[in-house]
Amino acid sequence: MQSAVARLHSAFVFCGVQMSEKRDYYEVLGVSRNASQDEIKRAYRRLARQYHPDVNKHNPDAEARFKEINEAYQVLSDPEKREIYDRYGHRGLDPNYTSGYGGIEDFGDFGFTDIFDMFFGTGTRTATRRSRPRAEPGSDVRCEIEITLEEAARGTQREITFERMELCRACAGTGTQPGTRPEVCGLCGGSGQVRQQQHSFFGTQIRISTCPRCHGEGRVVGSPCHQCRGQGRVRGTVTRTIDIPAGVDTGMQIRIPGEGDAGLRGGPRGDLLVGVHVLPHKVFERRGNDLWCRLTISFPLAALGGHVEVPTIDGTETLYVAPGTQSGETYSLRGRGMPDPTRGTRGDLHVLIHVQTPTHLTEEQKELLRKFARLQGENINHEEDKKSFFERVRDALDGL
Ligand SMILES: [Zn+2]
Ligand SMILES: [Zn+2]
Repeated sequence: MQSAVARLHSAFVFCGVQMSEKRDYYEVLGVSRNASQDEIKRAYRRLARQYHPDVNKHNPDAEARFKEINEAYQVLSDPEKREIYDRYGHRGLDPNYTSGYGGIEDFGDFGFTDIFDMFFGTGTRTATRRSRPRAEPGSDVRCEIEITLEEAARGTQREITFERMELCRACAGTGTQPGTRPEVCGLCGGSGQVRQQQHSFFGTQIRISTCPRCHGEGRVVGSPCHQCRGQGRVRGTVTRTIDIPAGVDTGMQIRIPGEGDAGLRGGPRGDLLVGVHVLPHKVFERRGNDLWCRLTISFPLAALGGHVEVPTIDGTETLYVAPGTQSGETYSLRGRGMPDPTRGTRGDLHVLIHVQTPTHLTEEQKELLRKFARLQGENINHEEDKKSFFERVRDALDGL
């Protein structure tokens, strides 16, 4: 599960040299056994600066020394660990003497960056003892809507109903049966973390990872809530009215923050992602922010020119067709396309002209066209059509 991955942060802690070679922490820092926290801090800063590997590139012992100083400081600067150390020495803090899991407080992850933060004052290391199981944001929820091209052009509102995870009302999201309480996890002792030893080139490493039993919660649900079976959330259905901005196109996504799944342990909700699908239109074809349409005009209008009504996404408009317009020519109406959802500009409307050849002509219309043809010096042998098949055969034979 995604949530488990997010929580799986682990830290590696160096344990330095072996027990037998271990120097006394007070000796390492050069302070007395009853040194104050201030004295310990000052001694540490001085030594850390002196042995920092970045300023000791030619001194191979510096790194080991630096680790030793760090380790000593981590123990002596922590009153709890210092007390254990004072009482039991190194053994008190040695993970070998604990049962593998749990036990004494870990060292935390204390790296070089922390040292630099301290030097340059970018932040004081606060007692981030162990990361308590963090609130986790809910997942995003996806749904799809279909809108018409007109709606896309103007922008619209749409009521949508979708499923998402809601906090369980019965247990208020805790996952435990009302009246019972979560129990401390037996595996990690409530810390939410477990430690394992690893042996490597650097010596013994303690790997601290999220407890597999309670998933870092530190607590396990004793008797799970019947309503949500311990999940703290249940599937629910909600209805929301969403604003669809003008200019949206198929494939775009509208993000509505905070309308997704409920979070875990008080985490924020995920978002609602609404995928848009714009339905095909009878008249207009969309290409980016431009619209295209076909306009059929009569043969005389194409020849003589004149005004004609054209459809646009906002209604009809008058277009002037120039004399001698051919089929396949395009007229463009600027700013009559789709709005751009981000820039606020509008595309154009391109009108593709189709000239219609007249059909079902009356005798008078035919005569006029014949006359028109003759004036162009064209001889249209129109009479042919009126003769019957036999007449045409006879004519052909007469010609022989
Ligand atoms: Zn646990
Ligand atoms: Zn519940």
